[in-house]
Amino acid sequence: MDLVEFQGKQLFGRNGVPVPPPGTVCRTVEEIVAAAEEHLANGASAVVVKAQVKTGGRGKAGGVKLATSVDEARQHGESILGLDIKGHTVQVVYVEPASDIAEEYYLSVMHDRVNKGHLVICSREGGVDIEEVNRTDPDAVVKRSLTPAETVDGLPLDTARDIVTQARLPAEVVEAAAELLVRLFAAYRHEDATLAEINPLIRRPDDVVLALDAKVSLDGNAAFRHDGYTEWQIDGLEADDPLEAEAKAKGIQYVKLDGSVGVLGNGAGLVMATLDVVAQNGGAAANFLDVGGGASADAMAESLGLVLSDPDVRSVFINIFGGITRGEEVAAGIIEATKRLGEFPQKLVVRLDGTNAEEGRQMLLRADLDSVIAAATMQEAAAAAVALAEES
Ligand code: GDP
Ligand code: MN
Repeated sequence: MDLVEFQGKQLFGRNGVPVPPPGTVCRTVEEIVAAAEEHLANGASAVVVKAQVKTGGRGKAGGVKLATSVDEARQHGESILGLDIKGHTVQVVYVEPASDIAEEYYLSVMHDRVNKGHLVICSREGGVDIEEVNRTDPDAVVKRSLTPAETVDGLPLDTARDIVTQARLPAEVVEAAAELLVRLFAAYRHEDATLAEINPLIRRPDDVVLALDAKVSLDGNAAFRHDGYTEWQIDGLEADDPLEAEAKAKGIQYVKLDGSVGVLGNGAGLVMATLDVVAQNGGAAANFLDVGGGASADAMAESLGLVLSDPDVRSVFINIFGGITRGEEVAAGIIEATKRLGEFPQKLVVRLDGTNAEEGRQMLLRADLDSVIAAATMQEAAAAAVALAEES
């Protein structure tokens, strides 16, 4: 689950990571005006009006603006509310007392899947696209891979100091930045984040170091340890992926992917093998979906409905291996599901194997469904599904 900036700052703040003074969450121009009035009256020399959407590069898109008067804040509010930033419509705006910036750095902690540990990235060049800095000036980006063993009691201050020194942060801020990194790592660990990124990490003219921006992703698999992350679900913020949210509500194991072949199977291992065989046939799966052991008519209808409602899906590959669930039950599920769903443009390629597979196939044949194509093997089914996705 991705947090928006102000939530990331809240999470940082309660874990001791320095952030700017608290701002105000607004949904209307009137609220923005009132918030600016209040912060300016309380001594802020300026406020910054910031779009709260789950994507980066808001500044470049006109979603981050400074205002030194209430009138200016109103104008910014009018232009930012409703603004489209890379397909995300701004419904929530954060009005924060502006910070004075002397320098901008980059700092992040994330899961390092390749090394089965954590990765800390630090750079003197912040406030800009870090990928770009990494391409043009790789020496300016320090990447430190850490094992779970060496961080079992948190990130040692010595290691943090070493990282920020190597990134050539100025001597005056090394200690503050190192301490901030230790706290950032603790926050990331304690809150079960997969990513905690600060871009920019700023040095104020008075040498105070703080997180001016926050990008935090929380591990969905750890939601049960945090009351389902309900504290972060607020009005006006988009779900990460609407289909994933719907699947979760229905208890279906679903992950959205980039391709055009919808995939539905029983058992996570079989579904993963299905993604591979689709790729080997030159296609790309539009999703991962495990209907689970039962593959009942209900589960099949819910799952199939979900996959078919994805506009990227051009064909569907249903790959079922009957075990305790017999072939006839699976076939009944597919027939029932197609009846419930009514008309849909995509073809379903079905591969049924395992217990009573032959009986199941016969049932599908007898049902004579226009949308269903039976395939004898996994390979044949994958080839057919990929070809159909390419044609349509
Ligand atoms: P992003 O564009 O989505 O990464 O949004 P950021 O929160 O990183 O803001 C973009 C840029 O706006 C920053 O790199 C800063 O240069 C500038 N900015 C944001 N907040 C402030 C602030 O409080 N004071 C000043 N002076 N500039 C700010
Ligand atoms: Mn940023």
